[in-house]
Amino acid sequence: MTGPPGWSAESAIIHGGTERTAGRPVVPPPTLASVFVSAGDPGADPGYARNGNPTWAAVEASLGAMEQAEAVVFGSGQAASMALMLALAAGREQILLPRDGYYNARALADRLRPHGARAVLVDLQDLTEVERQLSRGTALLWAETPTNPMLRVADLTALAELAAAAGAPMIVDNTVATGLLQRPLDFGAIASLCSLTKSAAGHSDLIMGAVLTRDAGLLADLRGWRTLGGGIAGPMESWLALRSLKTLPLRIERQSSTALRLAGYLSGHPRVTAVHYPGTYRPTLAVASRQMPRGFGPLLSFEVAGDAAAADAVIAAARLIVPATSFGGAESSWERRARWTGEAAPAALIRLSAGLEPADDLIADIEQSLR
Ligand code: PLP
Repeated sequence: MTGPPGWSAESAIIHGGTERTAGRPVVPPPTLASVFVSAGDPGADPGYARNGNPTWAAVEASLGAMEQAEAVVFGSGQAASMALMLALAAGREQILLPRDGYYNARALADRLRPHGARAVLVDLQDLTEVERQLSRGTALLWAETPTNPMLRVADLTALAELAAAAGAPMIVDNTVATGLLQRPLDFGAIASLCSLTKSAAGHSDLIMGAVLTRDAGLLADLRGWRTLGGGIAGPMESWLALRSLKTLPLRIERQSSTALRLAGYLSGHPRVTAVHYPGTYRPTLAVASRQMPRGFGPLLSFEVAGDAAAADAVIAAARLIVPATSFGGAESSWERRARWTGEAAPAALIRLSAGLEPADDLIADIEQSLR
């Protein structure tokens, strides 16, 4: 953990990974190495680059300072999820995951079944259902809010209370919000997961993930899984992530305000039957505002009248918005989410990631696409 608690998240994210030693470059360069000079007891030196790398350390310092926690970076969000599940599901009977969350988290949890824990799907907004499932056996509660792709918001304070009463650790997949908009550890999560691939790095040019925690035991365990499992990040990716993180506050604030405008515009469009965005969905707006006081993120989804083919035609008609998966990049992109096997989204649901283009340009492009 670096940075005094008084730092704002914006300063912490910039300075957490910045050098202070005389003669060193202010921004750490990418350390391209598989081995480090070392003889005898390596002590804290990595010695071998699967154990550690100074460029990871810089990204971890930046992420950790932003959330007043320790960060462990991995080669992808999924590698981070796997380490987290291996660390926290061990010896437990079930992993409770949201039905409408990231589908590969469900697939990954399913893969762990032979190792003991079974994946159980729940509606995180239905606290009675969560409580009932928690009472059925020892559990890991795998929360996600807002969810991808339905953008549903769960009440983290309420979930943390239920989990604590049941002796279940709670983790939060914080990929959609990032630690800048939402700090799950402050709401009682033992760990917060972020696919840096999305908004955190935000330039559609790398795959990486991170776990944030304030729990020393979990931290050591995650580092152990990374070293032994080998799900490490490359130094070049780490360096790009470090560079990109410095502009996360500017990017995500712009993307959040654009997404809010797009959600409002889509809500009034005659060809749109439903809009899903934490900043416009009234029933959970109070919870969303409490958990994400600075903005609701770049991601929204909406359903067009008609079938999958109708939604595909809208996507194909765009001139500015890129037809692509993932989200959080500088360029706005969209996709029909149900095209992925295993995804539970409605057939005509389009997930839209607001980029950095002016909102007026995006509205014009959506308008002509829907026409
Ligand atoms: N969590 C969420 C919410 C995601 O959307 C994704 C990727 O789409 C992941 C985790 C996995 O991240 P990665 O693709 O970096 O492995």
